[in-house]
Amino acid sequence: MAHMVIIGGGLAAESAARTLREEGYDGEITVVSDEPHSLYERPPLSKGYLQGTEDRDAVILHPPDWYETHRIEVRTSTAATAVDPGARRVALADGSALSYDALLLATGAAPRRLPIDGHDLPGVRTLRRLDDADALRAELKDGGRRLVLIGSGWIGMEVAATARTLGNEVTVLEREAVPLAAAVGARMGEVFRRLHLDHGVDLRTSTHVERIVGAERVTGVVADGETVPADLVLVGVGAVPNTGLAEAAGLEVDNGVLTDAALRTSAPGVFAAGDVANAIHPVIGHRLRSEHWDNALRSGPVAARGMLGIPALHDGIPYFYTDQYDLGMELSGYPPLMRAAELVVRGDLDAREFIAFWVDGGRVVGGMNVNVWDVNETVQRLIRAGGEVDAEALADPGTPLESLVP
Ligand code: FAD
Repeated sequence: MAHMVIIGGGLAAESAARTLREEGYDGEITVVSDEPHSLYERPPLSKGYLQGTEDRDAVILHPPDWYETHRIEVRTSTAATAVDPGARRVALADGSALSYDALLLATGAAPRRLPIDGHDLPGVRTLRRLDDADALRAELKDGGRRLVLIGSGWIGMEVAATARTLGNEVTVLEREAVPLAAAVGARMGEVFRRLHLDHGVDLRTSTHVERIVGAERVTGVVADGETVPADLVLVGVGAVPNTGLAEAAGLEVDNGVLTDAALRTSAPGVFAAGDVANAIHPVIGHRLRSEHWDNALRSGPVAARGMLGIPALHDGIPYFYTDQYDLGMELSGYPPLMRAAELVVRGDLDAREFIAFWVDGGRVVGGMNVNVWDVNETVQRLIRAGGEVDAEALADPGTPLESLVP
């Protein structure tokens, strides 16, 4: 009987396994995850789950009987330790091995470490796994703690919002002049800076973090010569793709596992999906490695179809969302094209109710709706259509967005 093997414990692994069955595949499916939990998704870990308004059901993707019904074997607490693409075998940490007909690498990413003194003191944390969220929640849930966040990326900003909502003191130390500038540019980053200042976060930008201090446990972070007191520290300085297995197996790797637009790696029968895949985007011709929930949800099925020999391309527009305090945001667009684009804003930045468009040569290449709902699909259609759009009409809330889709 044919055997499909998936390495990973997140959404890319789940969406691939589910799709194999949806496409009528009847052979064996084994999912191998080094985590002790059933397959789960991560966005609630910095939001509702961390806050305590959502429980594990919001995180764990399926109850155990779903896997039985779908005849998907999930081996938890089992790391894959080596892949032999020639022999089509995966070695596991428990000493056993799996033979495969096709293999999916859905190994995700891991928090980037900060190589400074004190980074390994108790009380210095990162947030990626369910267990990380449980530990962080235990410290934040009663409020009154002093949390210092190093880095103001999406995860850092979401944790800042959750920690404030729970009544903790929050200081953010950011190297750049504006938070989130790398993701959305300085003008949109400024919207998030104000949001956090309005909620009492001590947000310090253009700051150089020197070291983390404490004896038995962290007591502070030294930045620009000043010690910021801390009961706990969260390091949120980005993630690095888990490419160790692929590299050791001789696959082509460069900021992720390199794939074509069908998510095929350089080894026959081996695919990659989710955060770990650095895939050619067939519409823009650039490589993209997205660390987004939607990318995991959509790339798993594309890889699964490829594993079954069904033609499929990973050609969606990258999509991301965040929730912080009372701000909800959706962002669609192609990051490599957005970097050179100009911003056109429809709505009220100060009221935090607007749509921002990234326009390059008259074409919309990205769009971000903040506290404006049911528009992201139209934003995506504008991007996909690729025609020239009148900037004045784009900025005018009186002109229906639909009417601008060429
Ligand atoms: P992962 O979810 O990282 O899963 C990879 C799995 O593979 C892990 O379980 C890992 O332990 C396992 N693994 C790795 N190596 C091995 C091995 N050798 N053997 C066995 N198992 C292995 N995105 C958004 O769009 N919006 C959000 O609001 C948002 N919020 C987020 C909040 C947090 C706290 C985090 C951490 C991420 C958030 N993301 C969000 C990003 C999103 O969760 C990721 O893009 C998504 O999890 C990627 O899924 P994945 O399956 O590729 O990888």
